[in-house]
Amino acid sequence: LGMPEAPAVLAPRRTTRQLDVGGVGVGSDHPVSVQSMTTTLTADVNATLQQIAELTAAGCDIVRVACPSADDAEALPAIAKKSGIPVIADIHFQPKYVFAAIDAGCAGVRVNPGNIKKFDDKVGDIAKAAKDAGIPIRIGVNAGSLEPGIMAKHGKATPEALVESALWEASLFAEHDYHDIKISVKHHDPVTMVRAYELLAEQCDYPLHLGVTEAGPTFQGTIKSATAFGALLSRGIGDTIRVSLSAPPIEEVRVGLSILESLNLRPRKLEIVSCPSCGRAQVDVYKLADEVTAGLEGMEVPLRVAVMGCVVNGPGEARDADLGVASGNGKGQIFVKGEVIKTVPEAQIVETLIDEAMRLAEEAGEG
Ligand code: SF4
Repeated sequence: LGMPEAPAVLAPRRTTRQLDVGGVGVGSDHPVSVQSMTTTLTADVNATLQQIAELTAAGCDIVRVACPSADDAEALPAIAKKSGIPVIADIHFQPKYVFAAIDAGCAGVRVNPGNIKKFDDKVGDIAKAAKDAGIPIRIGVNAGSLEPGIMAKHGKATPEALVESALWEASLFAEHDYHDIKISVKHHDPVTMVRAYELLAEQCDYPLHLGVTEAGPTFQGTIKSATAFGALLSRGIGDTIRVSLSAPPIEEVRVGLSILESLNLRPRKLEIVSCPSCGRAQVDVYKLADEVTAGLEGMEVPLRVAVMGCVVNGPGEARDADLGVASGNGKGQIFVKGEVIKTVPEAQIVETLIDEAMRLAEEAGEG
């Protein structure tokens, strides 16, 4: 009866200002959102929209597109109009594209203080245009492109240097009474990055966009991002995230969502509880876990499926899950909602689990 209890989180969110990014709320009153960035040429409107559609289907909340040339700027109105999720234009060097992006109907603009020296005399105009359009700006500081003056002062891209750069830029906008700002201070080293965000979180109430920049290929980038985001999100720091991977952006979205699900910051969908296997295993646990995962990919309803190699922890975990198998002697005991419903030969474990999962999903859908 009543609402199900919300799953436990490790800490309340740090209280921030609230932003509206094209209908997606960013700030402590809203769920942590997942962002990614297209890899197509932005000027290629069809290819970019196609990739945005794929990212949207994967669960991306906000998408960023690069805008390095006039052709890209010209493509922005069509992309902003047809995208199913808010589009943020990523601008370096050329202030004129900031105005173009705002005119194009983009939901936000990202600027990099290290690359916007030429913006100095334009901050007032940018603030006014963004305010009139009601869109936020992200101040995206990046260790690889820190302002030369700050670099000289700190010697390298220290956490303090990243934060000083970001807050300085934010103060320029604040002087023009513009506060719809979110900030990122990205670094490739998770330790430096975490420290920078901690400092930033203490010194302002702007929403924070988390990112480990140049995190690397999928495996390393996933580990670095999960570690760094986990350290921050577990203490309530972070309002929107982007996992950077040298891999197709859809992977970034999957990893980002998975990090949030792990911390109960998003409802979990399919969760496979599988054992690491050991000398007691009486079935091929890796193969079973992979096949069940593949068979249930894309499942939209929350479902915990336990795949366990033997009877030591098997029945306990399988009983605790929505669905599970505890294997032994070439057979699998199939559990549904805590009850053994049947015992099947090893060769039928996967198909039985998938059938039962589909049945449970259907029931949940109807319920
Ligand atoms: Fe080993 Fe059994 Fe535990 Fe799997 S469930 S790790 S096979 S003891």
